[in-house]
Amino acid sequence: TVVVVGSVNLDTTVHVAMLPVPGETVFAATNHQQLGGKGANQAVAAAEAGATVTIVCALGDDPAAEQALGWLRSRAVEVRPVRDQTRPTGQAWIIVDDKGENAIVVDRGANAALTADLAIAAVLDRTRGSDRTTTTLVAQGEVDPAVVHAVAAFAREHGLRFVLNLAPVIEVSEATLRTAAPLIVNEGEATALTRRHLGEDSRPADLARRWGIDIVITLGAEGAAIISPDGEIRRVPAPLVDVVVDTSGAGDAFAGTVAAALSRGLSLYEAAEHGVAAGARAVRRWGASGIGDEQGSNR
Ligand code: ADP
Repeated sequence: TVVVVGSVNLDTTVHVAMLPVPGETVFAATNHQQLGGKGANQAVAAAEAGATVTIVCALGDDPAAEQALGWLRSRAVEVRPVRDQTRPTGQAWIIVDDKGENAIVVDRGANAALTADLAIAAVLDRTRGSDRTTTTLVAQGEVDPAVVHAVAAFAREHGLRFVLNLAPVIEVSEATLRTAAPLIVNEGEATALTRRHLGEDSRPADLARRWGIDIVITLGAEGAAIISPDGEIRRVPAPLVDVVVDTSGAGDAFAGTVAAALSRGLSLYEAAEHGVAAGARAVRRWGASGIGDEQGSNR
């Protein structure tokens, strides 16, 4: 069982010849709507990897929420939503040009309604009586730091595995970081985290040693590296992808798949092997989650 506590967005992606400059209006060549938000992407990836998945999230009371619920349920993800009556479901507007460059605006909207108390109430209800050894909690940096802290504390208290994808890098306590099993970050996040906690001249291996945790760093086309608390570094190569269509959501596919594999009892190395395979599939398709109106309205 994988319980993801995280964000859900409705992503609208338009393709244009060139990104508009301030004051300019351009026409879209295509318009796609897809499920997005790191929490949703990771929940879907974990379900695709065969896990029984629940997402604890916050949605508005609007058509976008129904759309997101439908998409999540179509992949057998159980949804435990907090309903925000005042804000719309989270949304992202993504503009991509012919060169693959993008500009993105995110409105967190209802995601902000996911408080630590509400999240923990839902996690407690979902995990009551469940098998500790096979239940994995997952959180990312798109929720309030207080929520991440609460989920980590819950995992410690109840003896559950806690997978932390600190994307983006938000301010969390050392107690939370020490609970991560593993901490998953991309290269840029690893650098930012190392600078923040240890200063310029340090390396991620120093963080793994200090916090006594495994850190998995995703390296794009290079795959991933697993750093053990003793400083040992193991590389997990990525499958070769000839045509990269869209890299958004690759890190989420990796993290969700790793969580699913760990909940099945696989080793971290084996889990990362499944993770890079899922990451490679994710970059071959459009969209962050791989769910939506794939065809869109082409015009
Ligand atoms: P993020 O999307 O968070 O920045 P990465 O770019 O490191 O994360 O990608 C996450 C994972 O997706 C990688 O570990 C790798 O497995 C896979 N991946 C990303 N880009 C490629 C690529 N060009 N070829 C093959 N696999 C890739």
